[in-house]
Amino acid sequence: MVGEVIRKVLIVGGGIGGMALAILLRSKGLDVDLAERDPQWRAAGAGLTLNGATLRVFSEIGIEEDVRRLGSVHGGVRLHDRWGNIIEDRPAYVPEPGDIMAGGAIMRPVLHQILAERTRALGTNVRLGLTVNTLDQDKDGVTVTFSDGSVGRYDLVVGADGLHSQMRKLIFPDAPGAAFVHMGAWRAVFPRPAEMETTWLFLDASQKLGFNPVSKTHMYLFILEPMTENQWREPEDWPRLLAELMSGYCDQVSSLATSIDESTSINYRPLEMVMLPQPWHSGRVVLLGDACHGTTPHSGYGAGLATEDAVILAEQICAPGDLDERLNAYCDRRYPRCRRVMDLSLDLNRMERAGVPIVDQFHTNMALMDIARQPY
Ligand SMILES: Cc1cc2nc3c(=O)[nH]c(=O)nc-3n(C[C@H](O)[C@H](O)[C@H](O)COP(=O)(O)OP(=O)(O)OC[C@H]3O[C@@H](n4cnc5c(N)ncnc54)[C@H](O)[C@@H]3O)c2cc1C
Repeated sequence: MVGEVIRKVLIVGGGIGGMALAILLRSKGLDVDLAERDPQWRAAGAGLTLNGATLRVFSEIGIEEDVRRLGSVHGGVRLHDRWGNIIEDRPAYVPEPGDIMAGGAIMRPVLHQILAERTRALGTNVRLGLTVNTLDQDKDGVTVTFSDGSVGRYDLVVGADGLHSQMRKLIFPDAPGAAFVHMGAWRAVFPRPAEMETTWLFLDASQKLGFNPVSKTHMYLFILEPMTENQWREPEDWPRLLAELMSGYCDQVSSLATSIDESTSINYRPLEMVMLPQPWHSGRVVLLGDACHGTTPHSGYGAGLATEDAVILAEQICAPGDLDERLNAYCDRRYPRCRRVMDLSLDLNRMERAGVPIVDQFHTNMALMDIARQPY
């Protein structure tokens, strides 16, 4: 693998990280096949919070303008207590490209559409309804057998197949899987009031609740609910349970709770985390994004980390030198940042579950936000 040029890459998983990598590699002229399990290539969920680092990656992969146009980029935040009193207000402004203080949000299906269009426009060979059955590595490449019986030969295979990664299981069968972190995440979409121009958080020791504009017309609600057990909630109960979690707050929140009905777009998920120790590759198969470091949404940073991985991995795939050393360099560069996001998110998770007062969570929150301001 000394000084080897990588020409043909298979990416398994067409999520945010996999598509970002496909775009970067196609821009550098590599042959890229992308295998996605979902035949419809859908993106579930509501809003996705973005930070300055994520927007910097979007600029590198050529989608920042679309994200600004179809999402919401504002760089502001307003903190309230549960009763609606404003504690701090950093007003909206329009951040310049590369602004480390920038923030915003976009509907996940909208971001998916932007990325998917660019992935296809650059000539990625997208194969839907397909996964990998076996990987057979030798010194010159990887022979892949797909679930439809077809066979492909690649210089490198990238597992970008998310938190419950099958690729992780194939190359590291003994690695621990994703673990429940005693929290449930609620998301819902509402019309955006004209006066809401920034992220609004309603702070309370019992749970994290906030709103983020995702477009000129809509905002998304997020709630992190502490839970003792990993309980699945039936979708028909979601409107009632969500309205209960929003009750007891000021009018801005509780009036929305009373507007919830069966037509409200609601999404609920018990939260899980995974952090794979180094290395993140075995021979010519390497992991990226949630497949090796799935975090909680405390920082609104999981998708951002996956896209940052894509930038650094693409650099190493195209670099000169020994391939094993290049893949180690990718992991060495990414591991400390991802580990730190994970550790701080877990700290916040523990504090929130223990009902630690918001002021005592402040430094951890600031440390988490500070990571996004550092170069990836
Ligand atoms: C409730 C919740 C809220 C979140 N909010 C935010 C947020 O506000 N901001 C943020 O930055 N992050 C957020 N995250 C984290 C973010 O969603 C993930 O970190 C991000 O999606 C990871 O991207 P990925 O490409 O690694 O994996 P994914 O986005 O999970 O994509 C994996 C892809 O692989 C496909 N796939 C899976 N298995 C296979 C297989 N065997 N073969 C082929 N294809 C396969 C899947 O269908 C999917 O398309 C949140 C997560 C949760 C759970």
